[in-house]
Amino acid sequence: MNTDFAIIGGGVVGLSLAWGLLKQGYKVTIVDGSDGSYRASRGNFGLIWVQGKGVGAPHYARWTQRSASLYRDFSEELSDATGINVSLEQNGGFEYFFSDDDLLQTQAVYEQLKQQLGGDYPFEILRGDALRKEEPTVGPEVTSAILHHQDGHLNPLKLLRALNADCQRMGGVYLSNHMVRSVSKGHQFTLSCDDGTRIGADRVILSAGLGALDLGPKMGFVTPLEPERGQVLITEKLPRMINRPSVTARQVDEGGIQIGATNEKIGFNRDVTTKGIAFLADQAIRTHPFLAKVKLVRSWGALRILSRDGKPIYQESPTMPGAYLVTCHSGITLAAVHARLLPGWFDKKQDAPDLEAFSEDRFRLS
Ligand SMILES: Cc1cc2nc3c(=O)[nH]c(=O)nc-3n(C[C@H](O)[C@H](O)[C@H](O)COP(=O)(O)OP(=O)(O)OC[C@H]3O[C@@H](n4cnc5c(N)ncnc54)[C@H](O)[C@@H]3O)c2cc1C
Repeated sequence: MNTDFAIIGGGVVGLSLAWGLLKQGYKVTIVDGSDGSYRASRGNFGLIWVQGKGVGAPHYARWTQRSASLYRDFSEELSDATGINVSLEQNGGFEYFFSDDDLLQTQAVYEQLKQQLGGDYPFEILRGDALRKEEPTVGPEVTSAILHHQDGHLNPLKLLRALNADCQRMGGVYLSNHMVRSVSKGHQFTLSCDDGTRIGADRVILSAGLGALDLGPKMGFVTPLEPERGQVLITEKLPRMINRPSVTARQVDEGGIQIGATNEKIGFNRDVTTKGIAFLADQAIRTHPFLAKVKLVRSWGALRILSRDGKPIYQESPTMPGAYLVTCHSGITLAAVHARLLPGWFDKKQDAPDLEAFSEDRFRLS
């Protein structure tokens, strides 16, 4: 089997890249692991989130904003092609505060970032009646909120399904249950899978999430990644109760309220814990007291893929030119730039984004 690009990993990152490359006319084969793999793309919170990203690193804020700005068009193209509506809403998102001190601290940080971004960081502070007019279910303990107008959310499982369907519609080959065990390079790349399948490719993208920890170093990458557990809850379906998403709770297109997520560095452990659920439920009820009477129907744990500084990595291998590592903490948020802009970066096009600041040099030098 031969292909222009072999993509290792069929999560949202691999599929976004595959989609963009197929649009450019490339032959693409996506090689994806098994149901036992760690799969952040199936367990996340579905936010397209700008606020708070890129503090101290405005290039990351700009990259995130660029993706948010490309999302509407990207999701409409996906939906037109597949009939799958990813339920994108980009009407802004809230960060809630229970004390003025916390608000003032965050406000100062955002003001500084806004200045670094030349003013393009549209947020406002809402309190009292103004806040409750926008979000009537917010409880009395909430003293204020930051409404950031570039934030939004979608249904991440529908995004994954739409990307997968459209990649296959455009002729992409999707191999599930194929774990790539090694990648070698002769006149072209050869990927060897655990079932004996061998795939020849002109170029290879390693976008295997935490699976990159195994293959990355063998392909010349630093791969400074670690897992971070996020526990998430979902309630029964309800009529519209929450207008805009926050990192604490959002109402999904199907009616359930998704509550999340913990941040726990405890290795490769996806368990759900009573302590985790209690913490999430407490935060959510303080923010939206009506949730105290709502039934929880499901909870799960999934692992984030964190680089050492939390920012994406876009790197061509120094030892295997033509092989690339693409990984990030916010693959839903960045799906639009990955689909639209990374194909040009692989091809070193003149108008490709400058991603030098996201290379692995920052880890090699430190
Ligand atoms: C609780 C939680 C909440 C989150 N919330 C958000 C959010 O609101 N917004 C946002 O933008 N992001 C969010 N994220 C992050 C987002 O989910 C991830 O950035 C994204 O899913 C990463 O996608 P991926 O394709 O890199 O990895 P994955 O989804 O983990 O996919 C990796 C794929 O690679 C495959 N694989 C692994 N090894 C191999 C191998 N050797 N051979 C072949 N295939 C292999 C696996 O089978 C898997 O399918 C959240 C994550 C978590 C855990």
